[in-house]
Amino acid sequence: MAEIKAYSLDELGQLFKDKGLPQFRAKQVYQWLYQKGACSYDEMTNLPKNLRATLAEELPLLPAAVIDRQVSSDGTRKYVIQFTDGTATEMVAIPSQDRLTVCFSTQVGCAMACSFCATGHEGFTRNLLPGEMVEQVLIAQHDMGRRVTNLVAMGQGEPFLNYDNVRKALTILNSEQGLNIAARKITVSTCGVFAGIQKFAQEPEQFTLAVSLHSAIQKTRDELMPKVANQPLAELHEVLCQYQAISKRRITFEYLMISNMNDDERNLDALVDFCDGLSCHVNLIPLNEIDDSPFKPASHHRVERFIERLQGSGTEATLRQSRGGDIAGACGQLKNKTL
Ligand code: SAH
Repeated sequence: MAEIKAYSLDELGQLFKDKGLPQFRAKQVYQWLYQKGACSYDEMTNLPKNLRATLAEELPLLPAAVIDRQVSSDGTRKYVIQFTDGTATEMVAIPSQDRLTVCFSTQVGCAMACSFCATGHEGFTRNLLPGEMVEQVLIAQHDMGRRVTNLVAMGQGEPFLNYDNVRKALTILNSEQGLNIAARKITVSTCGVFAGIQKFAQEPEQFTLAVSLHSAIQKTRDELMPKVANQPLAELHEVLCQYQAISKRRITFEYLMISNMNDDERNLDALVDFCDGLSCHVNLIPLNEIDDSPFKPASHHRVERFIERLQGSGTEATLRQSRGGDIAGACGQLKNKTL
């Protein structure tokens, strides 16, 4: 038997049933875990003591620890979270007046090796369990002292290479028995894993899909994102058309603006063409510079040009507001500095 954070709500219910325990006990446990953020069975005071002891033995509850926490002048907080196996990942809480967005990780490290990404340079360590993803959100919620309203799976890792665990985490985050965060306010970001996009299209909830495009020219994209270099852009476009036909959901494209890499007119033409026929929103992202990287952020002028052209062609385009720049906001940065 694995640790308790490995299980979905349904699986936990089944597990209790198999043990001959009443269903309300399972409910009590996941309320403690995923609503009250309990860190040990001892806190679950409405469970009989002997049951707590049995659970602690059979389904260990291993709480993560915050080993670094940085607070930006704009209120953004960034955390490095360490699990009991010694591995660590990052999470960011981004407050604004009407919302609290949490950017959580789905893996420790990442195998995708994107050339502009600090996590990509770190490499892959392991998949996170569903409960380990939810725990990040609970830590942020507790530390910020307010309800998390929006979620983005844009921390460390490629969510669609850990699909089943991410799916289970999304259920806990979305469920009334869990954090009760609206599906529409939950975004999953992928570098374009086809099988994952196809599966995600079938999910009944109205989750939002974000795709890291970064260039609609094959050669440029292959250079930036080597692990998806074998995927033709035409096929990605086709997969996204199918996704849209099934899900009826608008797609977000993430497009990092990198000087002299993907910010020229040729790239802009290709991007406009790629968006044609899709209902989408292009989120232009200012590049966060990472150590020892040759990449520089594009000029303000180029960003304006992209927005103007995209909007002129009927595609909504916005510049992502950069937050937490003073606390190593870029992917993988803080963790690498801490450890
Ligand atoms: N693997 C997924 C999700 C994690 S990365 C994906 O690729 O979408 C989340 C987003 O952060 C991606 O769009 C990624 O390209 C972006 N990102 C990575 N490094 C960055 C940097 N140095 N500056 C700005 N954004 C970065």
